[in-house]
Amino acid sequence: MKVLKFGGTSVSSVETVRNISEILKKSSENQIVVCSALSKVTNMLEEAAKKAADGDVSYKEVCAQIEKRHYDFIDELIQKEQQGDLKQTIHNHIASLEKVLEAVYFLNELSQRAYYIIVSFGEKMSNAIIFRYLTIHNGSVNYLDSSQIIITRTVNGKEDVNRSVTNKNILENWNKDYKITVAPGFISKSEKGYATTLGRGGSDYTAAIYAAALDASILEIWTDVSGIYTADPRKVKDAQPLEKMSYKEALELSNLGAKVIYAPTVQPVLEKNIPMVILNTFRPDDKGTLVTVETDSSKPIKSFSTMDNIAMLTFTGTGLVGNSGIAGRLFNALKDVNVIIISQACSEMSISVVISAADAQKAVNAINEEFDFEIRKNYIKPITAETGYSILAMVGEGMKNAAGMTGKAFTALGENNINIHLIAQGSSELNVSIVIKTEDSSKALNCLHEAFF
Ligand code: ADP
Ligand code: ASP
Ligand code: MG
Repeated sequence: MKVLKFGGTSVSSVETVRNISEILKKSSENQIVVCSALSKVTNMLEEAAKKAADGDVSYKEVCAQIEKRHYDFIDELIQKEQQGDLKQTIHNHIASLEKVLEAVYFLNELSQRAYYIIVSFGEKMSNAIIFRYLTIHNGSVNYLDSSQIIITRTVNGKEDVNRSVTNKNILENWNKDYKITVAPGFISKSEKGYATTLGRGGSDYTAAIYAAALDASILEIWTDVSGIYTADPRKVKDAQPLEKMSYKEALELSNLGAKVIYAPTVQPVLEKNIPMVILNTFRPDDKGTLVTVETDSSKPIKSFSTMDNIAMLTFTGTGLVGNSGIAGRLFNALKDVNVIIISQACSEMSISVVISAADAQKAVNAINEEFDFEIRKNYIKPITAETGYSILAMVGEGMKNAAGMTGKAFTALGENNINIHLIAQGSSELNVSIVIKTEDSSKALNCLHEAFF
């Protein structure tokens, strides 16, 4: 059996939905089809939620636009006499959505649980439409309700999938008598019973979870580009699709900002050694990128990516020199913050920590509280966060065996007058990350891409 995931742009036009139907017809294997919400709908749901929480009644207009978008799409895609009760289904979802938004509006507060319910309607509606379309064009199709099957639990304040319970649910509910099964992406349920989601971009992860649970022969991620490129093709005009790369490289790249794969997706397929291929729904005959355990050794560097909205914390003071335990206390203070890069020079005079700008204030408060005594004694300087930075990462397994890669990168950046604020290389040598000012981000990405490819 195989699992195919279609992203938002792939389920938003008549042309691509026809392509989906044709793609499914080409295979004789059992197939699970995981779809995202129609493109931009999750953003619109977030916008409606925010408006309602802010007491802005125009959340109702956003809701009406979402409803119309789905009705128009149904009319474009499916003839009237074949629509059945599909519009009624959409109407019922919108009515439930309005109820939750109304509650948020009256409370003037968007709780985490209300947020999860609100954003989950995108996938519920899109998958209902795709299910109907495929039932008409591809024969008998089954539906697995991921919102009851994918079970999450809270880990460090975030929802993550309880893999063993979820796997059991998938095995119990998947019916192989149906050649095609539609299972919505992104949506899930907490162990405690309330609605949850797998995070923005999470439909890729849903698909990987189904693939791993059912030992799929392949996981196909169908999107709007022809694979994983040497850089984001929207940011670098000359970027080229890569033929193949390893799981480790795909994981590194997705962690460092390449949106084409949602980072948690890699682990379930890596565990089961299931090949993953990234394909283009708009150009179904393009080869795409194959991700397996094997890298393409002819390309030591695979891809560049950038991450914006980064903050840098610099922890300095005489109290750092020769004192053991300081770094331990620093990282303990940062236990609830996702630390992206850490760097300490051997003079031990400062430690730099790179985090998302959204976490900056929380991190500053936590560190200043932990080192209150040392700060008052002037052993350590009060910490501040500098924002306006980006991370530029180069990723490739071959970097460890090829000398001069970083030198080449620094020369290219230097020649273009781009100031480097911090450099970090993990001991795996799978990536080199460079912190630069955000205003230099696009120029830096393009000049490195040109230097290497
Ligand atoms: P989907 O809705 O299908 O999940 P996404 O928008 O999440 O699609 O991911 C596809 C997008 O990822 C592409 O349109 C592209 O702009 C972006 N992207 C970022 N980095 C890369 C890369 N290295 N290769 C290909 N696409 C990339
Ligand atoms: N619809 C969700 C999002 O936009 C999940 C996904 O598309 O993967 O984030
Ligand atoms: Mg995506």
